[in-house]
Amino acid sequence: MIVIIGAGVSGLTAARQLQGKKEYLLLEKENYLGGLSTQYRADGCRFDFGGHYFHFQDKADIQTLVQSICTFKKFNRKSKTFALDRLIPFPIQFHLSYLPVAVRNKIVKEIMENRFTPAANLHDFLAINFGKTLFELFFKPFLTGYYNIDLREIIANMDRGSIPPPDKERIVAGAGGKKFFNTGYNPVFYYPASSLTHFIENYAGPITPDRIHLNEEVTGVDILKKRVKTAVSEYAYDKLITSMPLKNLVKIIEPVDLFPSPREFHHISTLLVNVILKRKRKRFHWVYLADRNIPFYRAGFYPVHPHPACYLEKTVTPGTIIDKEKLREEIVFTLKALNVIEVGEEVVFFDARIIPVSYVLFTTNWPQVVPPTLEKLKEYGIYSIGRYGSWNYTSMSDDIKDALACVEQLKV
Ligand SMILES: Cc1cc2nc3c(=O)[nH]c(=O)nc-3n(C[C@H](O)[C@H](O)[C@H](O)COP(=O)(O)OP(=O)(O)OC[C@H]3O[C@@H](n4cnc5c(N)ncnc54)[C@H](O)[C@@H]3O)c2cc1C
Repeated sequence: MIVIIGAGVSGLTAARQLQGKKEYLLLEKENYLGGLSTQYRADGCRFDFGGHYFHFQDKADIQTLVQSICTFKKFNRKSKTFALDRLIPFPIQFHLSYLPVAVRNKIVKEIMENRFTPAANLHDFLAINFGKTLFELFFKPFLTGYYNIDLREIIANMDRGSIPPPDKERIVAGAGGKKFFNTGYNPVFYYPASSLTHFIENYAGPITPDRIHLNEEVTGVDILKKRVKTAVSEYAYDKLITSMPLKNLVKIIEPVDLFPSPREFHHISTLLVNVILKRKRKRFHWVYLADRNIPFYRAGFYPVHPHPACYLEKTVTPGTIIDKEKLREEIVFTLKALNVIEVGEEVVFFDARIIPVSYVLFTTNWPQVVPPTLEKLKEYGIYSIGRYGSWNYTSMSDDIKDALACVEQLKV
C-alpha cells in the first residue's frame, strides 16, 4: 500500500497515476482538495491563494495533460516593476529607458564595466554583476522586503528560480528604448477559462472518492515500522509519497534525530490580501514592488474573475495578528500609488489570510540540508515531492512533472 500525504496538485497527480494500478490512500488535513492550487470562498466570492497561473515552458507533455482537463485561456504576460514612483515593464534591467536619463546612464555604465563574477551569496552576486545603482534601486528593496532576511544569507545559485546573469546586449538595447515585452522567464501564462476550482475538481475526477480521506492530518511517521499516524487512525505503508512541507515532516518523524532540525529549513510566510474593487482599472497582470514605503512585495489582478479583483502579498512572521484597520490603510495607500484606485471607497471588500509556508529560502545551508535529507528519506521508502515537499522553488507544472516521475520511479 502506498500512502500519499497532501491533496494538492502533487498528491492528486500521484493518486491519478496509481489509480487502478496499486492500492493507495490519500490523506489530506483540510476539508478540500487542491492545496494552494485551488480557490477559497470569502463573502460569496472565490479567490485564488494569490494569482495561480500555469506556465509550461519546456513542458509540452504537462501542457497537453493539463489542457486535456479543461479549457484554458492564454495570456501574454504583462508584469511590471514599481520603482521611483513609476511602472516599468519586467524585467527592469531590459527596460532602463523608463528611468531618468542620469540613473539609466549610471546603471548601464556600471553593468558594462563589470565582467561576470560568480559570487557566494545573492547580495554580492546582484551588487557586483548588476552594479550598485540598480541593486539599490530595485533588487535590494524588493528582495529584502520579500525574503525578510539579509541577502548575504541567501545563496546566489538557487536550485530552481535563479536570477540569470545580466544580458548586456539587451540591457543596452532596452536603455536605448527597445521594448522586450515578451521576454524574461515565462512570457506567456495560462489560466482555466472557468476557474482553478473547476480544474482541480476535474483533475481529481479519476480518483475513487473512498481513497481520499479529507480532514485527516498526518501527525506522526514511524519510518522504521513504516506507519503513518493521524488523529483517528494508523496506516501501514510500503512506500510513502508526501507533499507536506519538508520542515513539518522532519518534525513528526520517529525516531527523532535522524534528520536535520526543523530550524535548518528556512522559508517565508505570506499575508495574502484579496480585494474586490468598484471598477476595473487594469494596468498589469502583476507588479513587483520595490518601493520602501509600500508594505507589499507584489500586487496583481486576477485574469479570470467575475468581479474586478486584485491581490496583494506581503511577508509576515508566522502567527502575526491581522489588524484590519491598519491593513485597509496599507491597501488603499498601495493601490493609490499604483494608480489602481483614486479614493479608498473604491475598495469594496477585502479578505486577508496567512500562507504559513509560501516561499522556501535558499539560505547558505540549503545545499547541505535539503538534498541529503531527500536522499535519506528515499532510503526509508519516503518520497518527498512538490514545492514544499522537495523544499524548492517550483511551479504547479514542475510539481505535476515531478509527481509523475516519482510514481514512474516506483514502477507500480
Ligand atoms: C502566493 C503564491 C503564489 C503562487 N503562484 C503560482 C503561480 O502563479 N503559478 C504556479 O505554477 N505556482 C504558483 N505557486 C506555487 C504553487 O502554489 C505550488 O507550486 C503548488 O501549489 C504546490 O502544490 P503541492 O501539491 O506540491 O503542495 P500544496 O498545494 O501545498 O499541497 C500540499 C497539501 O498537503 C496538505 N498537508 C500539509 N500537511 C499535512 C499533514 N500533516 N497531513 C495531511 N495533509 C497535509 C495541505 O493541506 C495541502 O493540501 C504560488 C505559491 C504561492 C504561495
